[in-house]
Amino acid sequence: MLKHQTSNNQKNVYLFGPNISEGNANMRNLLGGKGANLAEMSKLGLPVPYGFTISTEMCMSYYDNHCQLSDNLKNDITQAIRQIEKIVGQNFGDGDNPLLFSVRSGARVSMPGMMDTVLNLGLNDNTVKTLAKATNNSKFAYDSYRRFLQIFGDVVLHIDHDDFEHILELHKEQHHIIEDSDLTADILQEIVVDYKALIKEKTSHDFVQSPWEQLWLAIEAVFNSWTIQRAKTYRVLHNIPESWGTAVNVQMMVFGNMGDDCATGVAFTRDPSTGENAFYGEFLVNAQGEDVVAGIRTPQPLTIIAAEKQKNTKKPSVKKSMQEAMPDVFEQLNNVRKILEQHYRDMQDIEFTVQQGTLYMLQTRNGKRTSQASLKIACDMVDEGLIDKKEAITRIDANHLDQLLHPCLDPSNKNDIFVKGLPASPGAACGKICFTADEAEDMAKAGHHVILVRHETSPEDIHGMHAAKAILTARGGMTSHAAVVARGMGRPCVCGASDISIDQTAKTITVNGITLHAGDIITIDGANGTVYIGKIAMIQPDLSGDFMRLMSWADDIRKTKIRTNAETPEDCATARKFGAEGIGLCRTEHMFFDSDRITPMRAMILSENEDQRRDALQKLLPMQQKDFEEIFAIMHGLPVTIRLLDPPLHEFLPRGDQEISDIAKSLNIHKDFIIQRIAQLHENNPMLGHRGCRLLNSYPEICEMQVEAIIAAAIHVKKSTGHAPLCEIMVPLVAMQSELKRLRHIITKKAEDIMHRDNCIIDYQIGTMIELPRAALQAEAIAQDAEFFSFGTNDLTQTTFGFSRDDTVEFLKNYQQLGILETDPFTSLDRDGVGEIMKIAIERGHKSRPDIKLGICGEHGGDPASIDFCVENNLDYVSCSPYRVPIARLAAAQAVIKYY
Ligand code: PEP
Ligand code: MG
Repeated sequence: MLKHQTSNNQKNVYLFGPNISEGNANMRNLLGGKGANLAEMSKLGLPVPYGFTISTEMCMSYYDNHCQLSDNLKNDITQAIRQIEKIVGQNFGDGDNPLLFSVRSGARVSMPGMMDTVLNLGLNDNTVKTLAKATNNSKFAYDSYRRFLQIFGDVVLHIDHDDFEHILELHKEQHHIIEDSDLTADILQEIVVDYKALIKEKTSHDFVQSPWEQLWLAIEAVFNSWTIQRAKTYRVLHNIPESWGTAVNVQMMVFGNMGDDCATGVAFTRDPSTGENAFYGEFLVNAQGEDVVAGIRTPQPLTIIAAEKQKNTKKPSVKKSMQEAMPDVFEQLNNVRKILEQHYRDMQDIEFTVQQGTLYMLQTRNGKRTSQASLKIACDMVDEGLIDKKEAITRIDANHLDQLLHPCLDPSNKNDIFVKGLPASPGAACGKICFTADEAEDMAKAGHHVILVRHETSPEDIHGMHAAKAILTARGGMTSHAAVVARGMGRPCVCGASDISIDQTAKTITVNGITLHAGDIITIDGANGTVYIGKIAMIQPDLSGDFMRLMSWADDIRKTKIRTNAETPEDCATARKFGAEGIGLCRTEHMFFDSDRITPMRAMILSENEDQRRDALQKLLPMQQKDFEEIFAIMHGLPVTIRLLDPPLHEFLPRGDQEISDIAKSLNIHKDFIIQRIAQLHENNPMLGHRGCRLLNSYPEICEMQVEAIIAAAIHVKKSTGHAPLCEIMVPLVAMQSELKRLRHIITKKAEDIMHRDNCIIDYQIGTMIELPRAALQAEAIAQDAEFFSFGTNDLTQTTFGFSRDDTVEFLKNYQQLGILETDPFTSLDRDGVGEIMKIAIERGHKSRPDIKLGICGEHGGDPASIDFCVENNLDYVSCSPYRVPIARLAAAQAVIKYY
């Protein structure tokens, strides 16, 4: 399952911390993102607590070794701990002042909240006492111990987190306590006793007292967390290979929960929502580790400015910003912010802890951000001289660009505001309320737009968040799980809408006496944190400013043309607005489904002989011609590839008794005749049946009608606007040169006839799609009759793998989870198979026609990784759906930067 390749690198464990750092930021593959950056921050002289990283290779060795830590590795870890003990003068497991560790995962790319973390490791019934004595703070010591028991119980021993929470709640109730921070040392000791009893009850063993045993178990748990379901799902969604593995970071604990001069926080060096160059983050006084991220307590802002802004938008915050509450430490942190930005030349997402007035850095990484923020940050950094334009182009994730292209709410809407929360991830969406991730997934599968409403989300909700159009939570801040994940996924999100009360059982949400039920429609505006009742009109985004700047830089660099797949005037106009430089695929069969066309189309299919068929086609001709005229006029002289009719004929036939009766009546033919014709046209495997050029060779009059419509429309537009299109007439599903040769002859003859008839010359070309492996193998012969090839990678993927396009969703997902396939080949081009076949076609096509025009029009034409392949292989253009045109423009420029 897991492909393991170890390098010759023999080192298993890499120390970090002031003056001993053995790694650096370039070692992310081996040390994971967190480990590599902890090493780099140490090298920069920043205050990083001592620790070490166990390499990702060790994760894979662990799996190879039947999920056992090798003696070798244990030995290296022991040595590393001995070294740290020596430097800091504390001992792991005993002594007056026990050394405690955190154990965290850290993959090559960040997978927020996906894998497990253990804090306060090393505490036991003895060390908790020495810790209490050394710090003179029993409350802190027992709070740390109960947290450790809880997290160790959950992550390592797999005891339900809620069982611990339940005990905690009982003690709080019994002592009339609301906030965790009000728990006294005595109560905490009682909780520790109950937690240990719970562990004994659930595992039949006493809680592990040996710190070393705790360490081995925690490291194993982190390695194991690489293959738990939610991590697998995340990897499938983000195309992260299973074979990468995770590193483990073991780091000396520093404590943000020792009192009011302690804190923990997360921050972004610039605003991750808007990109504004302002220090942005949240912190909690007297708190530990994941408290901020978990969203259990509402955190405080870092800066005075942010606190002021919050006052204007929400109920005034009673608590001070960090800048006011801890001005000295804030200044140090602000300084770290500057050092990190100058060094990494990118916006950083940092985690820190303040222990008794001293700042410690626990993490830095390139911060996740909205597309809008990516654009602003990239453009600002060019203006600030930190990066050049090329680098700015590479900084934008082309896959996320469409976040910017989606509509936002019409500001003139008069709908009632239901509730306000935090603007966690921009964009607007409306949909039906649902309360669980599974429900969201089921409803989305059934074709509904859904909004997932939760108290707070957890990594278990990931599939539901993905299925939902937007996410709404009642709790949690801007750095809560919901906010971080939604931003990464490009889903609009409003979080921390604390006025909502959610009744999971009754499936209702209530605010100020107004109750909405599951299935009711709400609209979310993630840009300003507002939730409305009902559906609200959307308006198109304004694509100016930074977007235009970056796109123009990309256009200056790219060599590949970007076209669109479109057949309606609206789509053509949208695509042109987004910068399309032509149409790469006009699927003409889509033009026959309209209500006014379907009847003559059906008459054509039901015809018993050629004469009847030609009569029916004559009725379709003016409609086709008018469609093409509109498209040519919009495209204003740009090339337009029109594909001749492709799908199986039976798709157009009536279904069900009523439809059959209706059509019999309107065509004045007997119902039984239609039923018989449907039976004749039935195919067991229509995808491989009578479609594409096979159909056109059977009924050349269809081809003639379409060619007449194309050429006559081009003449009309040339005469009326002065801009003649370059017509590219494309023949689908060719496998043999002879199929194309015959049609080429028919097309040429008809085109010449029409140009002669209308006394006007039109520039046109004849080409073919390459959708079948045989066509690729025969490309040299086929190119003799084709001036262009357009790779139809949807069918080419289907026919290369033998995977049905229509029936693969479920098992392909499973294949990805099993690690059999890294990505869905219908989404992202399979370079090794389909790509190789394309290369054969390119090479052989060039042999007989060196200037053959090459493009791609399968769905892959809008996928950045596939565009990368197309640029590498010198295709002339890629063609994609209108909304993906900007993505393709950017991806094509990124590939040029990579390859040339
Ligand atoms: C293709 O097969 O890639 C293609 C673009 O054609 P269609 O999706 O219409 O079959
Ligand atoms: Mg096709």
